[in-house]
Amino acid sequence: MLKVTVDLDVCQDHGQCVFAAPDVFELDDDGRLAYVGTPDESLRADVEDAADVCPLQAIRIEG
Ligand code: SF4
Repeated sequence: MLKVTVDLDVCQDHGQCVFAAPDVFELDDDGRLAYVGTPDESLRADVEDAADVCPLQAIRIEG
């Protein structure tokens, strides 16, 4: 199963991942990153793009 974790101690909430994978990542009303931990397999390419564009390399993909 595709599993996504973000190191929120590292993440600075700039949201590049939100543009790359809007079905997985979003900024909540407080501007903090929220995300789906077990997105559908069909979103794998988007998640990989998000991990690539994250300037802090805070996104980890398993599975
Ligand atoms: S791109 Fe990286 S640093 Fe920016 S909000 Fe997403 S996880 Fe956080």
